[in-house]
Amino acid sequence: MPEPLVMACLSDVAGQVRGKGFALADLDKRCRSGVGWTPTNVQITCFDGIAPSPYGSEGDLILWPDSDALFQAEIPGAPTLRMILGDVADRTGVPWTCCLRSHLRSAIERLEAASGLEARVAFEHEFTLIGLEAGSAFSLLGFHAVQGFSEALISSLQQAGMEPDSFLREYGPSQFEVTLAPKPALRAADEAIALREITRAVARSFGYRASFAPILDANSVGNGVHVHLSLWRKDGQPAMYAPDGVAGLSREASAAAAGILRHMPDFAAFTAPTAVSFIRLQPHRWSAAFANLAIQDREAGLRICPVNTTDPDRIAQQYHYEYRAADSAASPWLVLSCLLHAAASGLEEKLVCPNPSSGDLSVLSESELAATGISPLPRTPQAALERLGSSAVVSGWFPEGFIPIYIDHKLHEFAASQGQSPEEAMQSYATVY
Ligand code: GLU
Ligand code: MG
Repeated sequence: MPEPLVMACLSDVAGQVRGKGFALADLDKRCRSGVGWTPTNVQITCFDGIAPSPYGSEGDLILWPDSDALFQAEIPGAPTLRMILGDVADRTGVPWTCCLRSHLRSAIERLEAASGLEARVAFEHEFTLIGLEAGSAFSLLGFHAVQGFSEALISSLQQAGMEPDSFLREYGPSQFEVTLAPKPALRAADEAIALREITRAVARSFGYRASFAPILDANSVGNGVHVHLSLWRKDGQPAMYAPDGVAGLSREASAAAAGILRHMPDFAAFTAPTAVSFIRLQPHRWSAAFANLAIQDREAGLRICPVNTTDPDRIAQQYHYEYRAADSAASPWLVLSCLLHAAASGLEEKLVCPNPSSGDLSVLSESELAATGISPLPRTPQAALERLGSSAVVSGWFPEGFIPIYIDHKLHEFAASQGQSPEEAMQSYATVY
């Protein structure tokens, strides 16, 4: 019998899952002793180039596998997929400057300190199955054509400890969507990381390639990641809904939304991180082009989602919003860090969210848009990086030195697309996400 292996992994600034393997039999020992990790690995881009690194060839870190983040799934016709996520610290135990999981832990703590509230998060992922005939959006025929794959995928996700909520054949060519049940923030982000890997592995065993790249065809829609967010009190009561609040939001939910809306253009470079992400984030692609709040509008940056009841208690249980300007090239740890820090900042400053917008914001002139108080999201990856680099507020959410490293990483990555047409760039990203 071959020796079963498990891989200790992290989700890095390239949105890639990287790590080191060891014998499954050594798991307990490894959770106590860790796995060595190299600082300059943070600068390995999605295309496997290495961006300028302040660490050079020096230094050693420890990746600490977290026994709460072990995912094991049977993959038809392939070895069992086993991954365990973890945090990275220096050799004295201090969380590393570029450890995205530690960043998320800090954001969760800040939100709790600011409000006493806990976030629950559900990730909704879209992806494209390459190697499948296009067409059949939402159709039974399209659904049935991949039923073997879909059923295997849902089983694998369940085995790995996830609760898939729905699976559908989406609108885009050969596009699918899978949504998980809400979980506390760290668990939700860990599951989102594992979901992408399990989906890719199951697709491979059915002869497809699952691509989570933000967009594959400029004439169609992209692959979004919608992050459904709700806030809960310590006693388990929901804290989102107030029938007489702006857009039905409680004071806390309104403050958190206001913080997210205020900082969204500054942190968009983290949630929509590739050279092609902003092709997706254009008006009329049902993604998000503005930092706006809207009710049940699929073009809103922050969308208040529908409920399926008129009973006030059940409305309160269901009421939540979703952030729509993320894609799967971003580490879920980083996306959630941004959302929770922004929400916490709104709560700390007791902000009040604006009235929800309505209608198509893209038809407004610059001055009409300015009069609404709504900021557009950056239109290019370079503009997004500039916003990030000049935001003292967002920079304060992360350890000193992290944002310059991130910007260097992304500039190096974007250089790979220079001279490429948008179609070529989308193709390149389709092969690595
Ligand atoms: N594909 C759209 C996006 O890029 C989302 C479509 C939808 O599910 O509303 O975000
Ligand atoms: Mg969708």
